[in-house]
Amino acid sequence: MGTFTEQLESLLGESGWLNTESAAKYTTDWLKLTQSQPLGVARPATVEVLCSLVQLCQENAVQIVPQGGNTGLVLGSVPTPAERSCIIVSIERMNAIEHIDTIGCTVTVQAGAVLEQLQCAIGDAGLTLPLHLGSGGSAQIGGLISTNAGGYHAHRDGMMGDRVLGLDVVLPNGQIWSGNRALIKDNAGYDLKRLFCGAEGTLGIVTRATLRLEPLPTSTETLLLACNSLADALNVLRCAQSLAGPLLSAAEFMHSAGISLLQQQCPQVNNPLDTIPPYALLIEFTSSSDMLNLQPIVERLLEQSLEKQWAIDGVVAGNESQRKALWQLREEIPEGQRLHGPQLKHDVSVPVASLPEFIDVATKACHSVMNSVLVNPFGHLADGNVHFNLSAPIDAPDEFVALKQEFNTAVYDAVVGFNGSIAAEHGLGRNKVSLADQTRSQTERLLMKKIKQAIDPNSIMNRGVIVAPSDEDPIKG
Ligand SMILES: Cc1cc2nc3c(=O)[nH]c(=O)nc-3n(C[C@H](O)[C@H](O)[C@H](O)COP(=O)(O)OP(=O)(O)OC[C@H]3O[C@@H](n4cnc5c(N)ncnc54)[C@H](O)[C@@H]3O)c2cc1C
Repeated sequence: MGTFTEQLESLLGESGWLNTESAAKYTTDWLKLTQSQPLGVARPATVEVLCSLVQLCQENAVQIVPQGGNTGLVLGSVPTPAERSCIIVSIERMNAIEHIDTIGCTVTVQAGAVLEQLQCAIGDAGLTLPLHLGSGGSAQIGGLISTNAGGYHAHRDGMMGDRVLGLDVVLPNGQIWSGNRALIKDNAGYDLKRLFCGAEGTLGIVTRATLRLEPLPTSTETLLLACNSLADALNVLRCAQSLAGPLLSAAEFMHSAGISLLQQQCPQVNNPLDTIPPYALLIEFTSSSDMLNLQPIVERLLEQSLEKQWAIDGVVAGNESQRKALWQLREEIPEGQRLHGPQLKHDVSVPVASLPEFIDVATKACHSVMNSVLVNPFGHLADGNVHFNLSAPIDAPDEFVALKQEFNTAVYDAVVGFNGSIAAEHGLGRNKVSLADQTRSQTERLLMKKIKQAIDPNSIMNRGVIVAPSDEDPIKG
């Protein structure tokens, strides 16, 4: 028989089992906040091996932490240093793109495939998965499904869960639930696949999915506007929506604080606007029809925005490299902030119309905690998702770090006040579970606990994520 790890080694083979010393890439999270100490990292290459692995963990009461590309930002894909009797399970070797259906516009793909690789393969067939995010070079399909990732196009194309037509999942008892159907209409009972979208690895390991695709855009127009206020930016958004309807594919806003930090930390990133405005707004239109010309739309939007004084300046990308430069400004905002020093991230959402007031209220609340804190809100204007990030003033990093709890309370109280969500697109992970419990109703908390108990009664799958560990003990009453 051998010890548990000996049994794992013989099941997984040499390249399928890594001990902790040789697995730093898997045991540290993306933000390098934690260095975990699991028993090791399992990398099964087939579903059959994965099923046996899960059964072995059940028999030995060893916890499983599923991992995709490990780009999550809330400590969902790595255990805490205190969680020792656990293994990380990476399915990166199960990454085949199995079938592209150009008639039904779907792809069937193993969950370890990386988003960018999938986009290349389906792009060759004239299709796209309308999910674009900064981590696309590493994030995997299983991770994107399990966090129900959002990104730039969620306002129009939905979140990752909205793209999932079918799934295969290895359940905590080691059995496979095979629900991988390629159907848009399927009302035969509870929508089980939806349970696993956003479940953050707490209910099973996603191994395969069929995803709904869209035709690849053939024309794109991109515009960067300087606005005096977020209310003005919302007027531009409204105008863009009425001019172009579903052709509006992205509306990203940035605050002067984020652009200033970026210019200080990454001077190679160009700011195409003459000055740093209070807010910058990146608007993009895309179309997959050769019959539609987007140029008059973007010109009209610029003209109207300047005429009505919703914008004080604007730049239209004249070619692909200029377009990339406009996007670089948005995409590098988090990097500029990271390089500046200590930071606190809050991935939250409020109703779109409440965004200006929410940012005002939350900013004032943070300034009352520390007057000199740098407030850097940016994000997805059209779906109300703000990355309400804070940075330390240059002369008081320790004081800033010591006030973490007070800042969190200030931001999350404001979110609750606007009937928003404390976890818009990154999920809860291990970071936000107790916070979620404070904002959930008792009924909601009990429902989540019962779902977890029904599918994972021994709580071996990502214990402590979504449902607090104290809530994972058997339900009384
Ligand atoms: C630069 C950058 C930009 C980002 N931008 C965005 C953005 O715009 N929008 C957004 O939503 N997120 C964003 N993220 C967050 C992150 O990329 C997403 O949450 C992504 O979906 C995580 O995918 P992953 O494969 O890296 O999963 P991981 O980080 O490995 O895991 C995330 C969670 O899913 C679980 N999991 C992973 N694979 C499986 C599986 N096969 N079965 C079951 N559970 C599994 C893990 O246990 C964990 O709880 C960004 C991150 C970075 C670093």
